[in-house]
Amino acid sequence: MHDEPIDPFNGDPADPTAGLDDPGDDATPDPLTDVERQDVLEDLADLEIYQALLAPIGVRGLVIECEDCREPHYFDWDLLRGNLRHLLNSGRPRVHEPAYDPDPDHYVTWDYARGYADGVHDTLSEGTEDEPGAPTATR
Ligand SMILES: [Zn+2]
Repeated sequence: MHDEPIDPFNGDPADPTAGLDDPGDDATPDPLTDVERQDVLEDLADLEIYQALLAPIGVRGLVIECEDCREPHYFDWDLLRGNLRHLLNSGRPRVHEPAYDPDPDHYVTWDYARGYADGVHDTLSEGTEDEPGAPTATR
């Protein structure tokens, strides 16, 4: 029905439009928006809290379900912090760099860490008789 616009550079290796569709590795990274930056900064702040609370009970880092591989990746605290700082500085996440040979027992999810921190916070602020330990893993 409609005339297809003819690409004069079709098949030409010097096609100036080549690569426009695909933000390859050489593409200039988009800087983070203020909102994204704020998110990362909040994650970094949360991370400090989680590490302070969880590291003493043997948690070595967080496990993150990877949307690319659809596999869980295990990140040590230092690695997480490094990744977030990298994201802040470069505007792009680091490629998967999970912990080496992790023991899944020593990693928890963000949600778990958040719930745990909330629980500790509630306990401290309300002064209930429940001890802050032993979070229940209900899912
Ligand atoms: Zn991955």
